[in-house]
Amino acid sequence: MLKIFRFKILVTCLLPSELICHCGANCTLNRRTSTTDGFTFRCKKGHELGMRKNSFFERSSYNIRDLIVFIKYYIEGHSLHMSAKCANMEYKSTSVHWASFIREMFCEYIYIYTEYEMIRFQGDVELDESLFGRKIKYNRGKPTWNRILIFGIIERSSNKIVMYPVDSRGADVLIPLIQKRIEPGSRIFSDSWGAYSGLNRLGYEHCTVIHKTSFKQVYINTETNEEVQCCTNRIEGAWEIAKDHFRRINGTNSNLFEQHLCEIVWRNHVHRAGNIYASFFDLMKTIYTLDMAPRFTYTKPLFRTWTPPSKTDEARHNITIVQGSDAESDGEEASTVDTSEPTGSSLPASIDNSEKSKGQAKPAVLEEM
Ligand SMILES: [Zn+2]
Repeated sequence: MLKIFRFKILVTCLLPSELICHCGANCTLNRRTSTTDGFTFRCKKGHELGMRKNSFFERSSYNIRDLIVFIKYYIEGHSLHMSAKCANMEYKSTSVHWASFIREMFCEYIYIYTEYEMIRFQGDVELDESLFGRKIKYNRGKPTWNRILIFGIIERSSNKIVMYPVDSRGADVLIPLIQKRIEPGSRIFSDSWGAYSGLNRLGYEHCTVIHKTSFKQVYINTETNEEVQCCTNRIEGAWEIAKDHFRRINGTNSNLFEQHLCEIVWRNHVHRAGNIYASFFDLMKTIYTLDMAPRFTYTKPLFRTWTPPSKTDEARHNITIVQGSDAESDGEEASTVDTSEPTGSSLPASIDNSEKSKGQAKPAVLEEM
């Protein structure tokens, strides 16, 4: 039984099939019933290496079969509680750790994707910002460190998103991200937030929303005044999915926020690939190459566009991130919105907000351009 199981793992390349010992000799797999997995690698000089050497599973002696079940359920989007239950795993630190080990891979993926792979969106592209997190009631009026502002871009043809937590929604922060991610000549759809007002000068065709019903949006080309109708609102759909993720997990500490954001974006990217398991194990194999220890290159914080709250702030205020109001209300008195309210009503709220932001003068931001 174990042998068959081991074979199954070997064919999916999740465990090493051969290893070179630290003495330089080749190791072979040998039966070793006293170990958890029943096998170890051994060289001719008698050095022994664990069967999980360099693999994802090396991080504990937890039963591999159960771990595979845990991964399966987690990747399918089941709750941590359900994933742990199906994997006979304790629903506490063990499952929390393994879920975190999984999300580390999403972080690495996003880091490589956003930092090194110069994949740029083109054609019709939507931009927006949204506020995640919970307002602390006794801290009203203070800086919004307990809420996280996310800037998102979505390419309509591929439906792929990128999301960045940002310290501000000023042009100095958003414009470099736009230029990094979007090919000149693309048609950008956004609200009429002042930071976007110079996009035509930067070689983009810029359309801002002027009117929205539940089915159609009317945009106006800021250069030619030509009206453009669109019948979908992709970026708001992406916000809904993202906020739903945080609602489902009941919020998270903001030190885990990046991990979860990376998971959301990774899921979006592999959604169309069809086989989420294959996508996941492909990712695993690029990080856990098995011939050497896994190397994570992502930085902490991963996104250089924001400053995560410090641990002491977290402890003091017991912060959880659940969901948020729309970014448009940021900085206004209206930001005292009751955040216990679900975001299911985001569409009507957005109508109000986009109307509001249209009329707002934001000279400080305009000057920064
Ligand atoms: Zn050796």
